Amino acid sequence: MPSEKIPPCPLAKKCGGCDYQGMPYERQLLEKEKLVKKLLGSMGEVRPILGADTPYHYRNKVHAVFSRKRNGEIISGIYQEGTHRVVPVDACQIENEKADEIIVTIRRLLKSFRIRVYDEDTDFGLLRHVMVRTAAATGQIMVVLVVRTPIFPSKNNFVKALRAVHPEITTVVLNVNERRTSMVLGERNIPIYGKGYIEDVLCGCSFRISPTSFYQVNAAQTERLYKTAMTLARLNKRDRVVDAYCGIGTIGMVAAKTAREVIGVELNKEAVRDAAQNAVRNHMDNIRFVQGDAGMFLEGMADREEQVDVVFMDPPRSGSSEAFLKSLLILKPKKIVYISCNPETQARDLKTLKKDYRVEAIQPVDMFPFCGHVETIVLLQRETL
Ligand code: SAH
Repeated sequence: MPSEKIPPCPLAKKCGGCDYQGMPYERQLLEKEKLVKKLLGSMGEVRPILGADTPYHYRNKVHAVFSRKRNGEIISGIYQEGTHRVVPVDACQIENEKADEIIVTIRRLLKSFRIRVYDEDTDFGLLRHVMVRTAAATGQIMVVLVVRTPIFPSKNNFVKALRAVHPEITTVVLNVNERRTSMVLGERNIPIYGKGYIEDVLCGCSFRISPTSFYQVNAAQTERLYKTAMTLARLNKRDRVVDAYCGIGTIGMVAAKTAREVIGVELNKEAVRDAAQNAVRNHMDNIRFVQGDAGMFLEGMADREEQVDVVFMDPPRSGSSEAFLKSLLILKPKKIVYISCNPETQARDLKTLKKDYRVEAIQPVDMFPFCGHVETIVLLQRETL
């Protein structure tokens, strides 16, 4: 692993985005294993963490906030941890390099197009943030310009100038965020060039990804994560499967290759729209998606006494809900594959499930090199009652 040869990031102190700056990759992996052992080790043996082949430039989604210095100079970068001060960033060791270059180009173009950056204090100006998403397998690139109003002067010429430097950009979207909020993305997306989404390929399935849909940030490790989850689940063609917190339907789609039937549930409307389109795109007629809260959906399934064999669950960092966990205990699937990006809430939720389930495997996967976050798959098997 060549991580020791890379000079430490000059922004490390100010940025605070990397918890493990300057730490050799092998040690980072050991630290994460230690953390998972501490939180989940009492429930079963923790397998060695699955590390990345390369820990650099893996982030396929790059986000920059735009601001002005007192002297009027436009800067772009990230908020200094815990503040609203912007640390200028032109290059980053974990972000996709092309995405970083695009952000620098946009910053340069703003001046000639006389586009004002948004000022939080006065609520004035147009451009708030830029998000760039890249698809590793197809090379497609989406640029999302987060703006305060949908009126973007000379937008066609702006896109033309941007694509003259970066012809690999396949779509440009205006995301309108009118509110005085720290939320990055607003709800309205207006494509001003291309289809308004990008397409990527994972585990042999093709996926479209819209601006506000969740998509894993590290493509290579995501394939490893999903493949491992499938190996652990050992699905067969009689299985009825639930993919809870399904995003654009990635896990469910891979499961549907083997299973009899898959039902995905997801809160974000745009992601559910992507998921439904993704089923068509992959010619799958044994999978469907429901928009709503996963807990409420599972409660409904339990009320109807539906039969479920395997549940994949992949909740956000806050973990799952009591309604969801209680319903799982009523539905009694044979197996639960709990994928989590936060072992603390996962440990909390497992305490509830342990009542009727045996922890069969604990597999950490490193999705976020240089960051303290760790992803863990836990396989639960129903105790034969
Ligand atoms: N399994 C997907 C997404 C995981 S991220 C993947 O691997 O890509 C977690 C997802 O849960 C997000 O898409 C988020 O929108 C969704 N979510 C958050 N709260 C939810 C809830 N209460 N019910 C259903 N989905 C929820």
